[in-house]
Amino acid sequence: MKFKSITGTKDILPHDSIKWIRVEEKLRNIFNSYCYIEIRTPIFEETTLFARGIGQATDIVGKEMYTFYDKGGVSLTLRPEMTASVVRSFIQHNFNKESMLSKVYYIGPVFRQERPQAGRFRQFHQFGIEALGSQHPSIDAEIISITSDIYNTFNIKDFELKINSVGCTCCRYQYRDVLRDALLKVSDKLSEESKKRIETNPLRVLDSKDVKDKEATANAPLLLNYLCDECATHFEKVKDYLDELEIKYVVDARIVRGLDYYTKTAFEIITTSLGSQDALAGGGRYDLLVEELGGQKTFAIGAAAGMERLMLMLEKENSDIFENCQNLLFVITVDDTIRVKALKLANELRGQGLSVDLDFNSRSVKAQFREANRKNSKAVLVVSNDELARGTVTLKDMNSGEQQSVAKNLLLEEIKKVLQKQV
Ligand code: AMP
Repeated sequence: MKFKSITGTKDILPHDSIKWIRVEEKLRNIFNSYCYIEIRTPIFEETTLFARGIGQATDIVGKEMYTFYDKGGVSLTLRPEMTASVVRSFIQHNFNKESMLSKVYYIGPVFRQERPQAGRFRQFHQFGIEALGSQHPSIDAEIISITSDIYNTFNIKDFELKINSVGCTCCRYQYRDVLRDALLKVSDKLSEESKKRIETNPLRVLDSKDVKDKEATANAPLLLNYLCDECATHFEKVKDYLDELEIKYVVDARIVRGLDYYTKTAFEIITTSLGSQDALAGGGRYDLLVEELGGQKTFAIGAAAGMERLMLMLEKENSDIFENCQNLLFVITVDDTIRVKALKLANELRGQGLSVDLDFNSRSVKAQFREANRKNSKAVLVVSNDELARGTVTLKDMNSGEQQSVAKNLLLEEIKKVLQKQV
């Protein structure tokens, strides 16, 4: 019997993991530059955390969670997103004890039982940021700016930032009634899914992808026109900051986001390059969530993005971030009698910060050169008893093909010159 990975999950194989590491490094640098510190929370939590945090009426809680009981009969769930876990941790460890504003980022796997297709998985990876402790519109602008900065930093051209305000409890509940009435009038034209949502989650009907729903709701009232003064002013200020920061955006009054906890600012980054899975990232303000999960009232905002979709975009746009930049050096042994010395030399060079590999199968010199090539080695060292007796080794630049005999005490210097030429 042959085992296979579960549908909707993927192995990240060695040639890909190198790319992932490089992309993650770049993301970490961006987050660090804005002073966000990494948080790592457990992969599973109590089911009620997500049910309460994300909302019973959402697709995630209603249909997509991987839930199981542990031996003590406690219902646990593999995290379907990270914000609820971050907030749980924030409350549990009282982050804001020392500072009014906590800025954290995360990168890690999340799990949703969705129908797998291109760009949609059941285990996928999200990276994201959360800022807890400020209601100032400038932090909304910072979160949005970091998110769009990421795609600019990776030189991704095909993306669009859409922003909206989904109001607060005050304006949203008033608007819900207006919307519900409007939807009831066109209910016979709506999809079955949207018909059910008229009562449970009418706002979601507006961002349905179903063409029938889109047509039926083309003239539906929009929340943006029903914002209370406070939410309207907040939204105007967020836009002003974005304008000042020269961040391009469009206002899309239909963005509601799939999670119930959003208030005021909501945004998405979408692309036309990935077919129906067009969302690269999304986020928004969630001023009610900390209290909802048992903490003290805390204003907060965050964003989450899909790692697989970022990788797909980088592949599509032929990003140079994937070009081989590992400074691999391959040590070739002319026969087995030199093996111990070759191993020692490799260790010395590793100690100098170089990545060094060698053959472990007593293969011919020709086969070892092939292996060095296959591994995209930048340079090769050929070690033989004869040369070592003279205190030299042969250094070959794998790019130019130039080869020279180098004295051992000058080796590091010469290797660095060869690597430098190939940057
Ligand atoms: P969400 O929390 O649903 O807004 O998701 C945030 C981001 O995660 C989305 O913008 C996508 O880039 C990514 N994402 C969401 N669901 C999936 C999935 N099933 N497979 C891959 N990426 C996903």
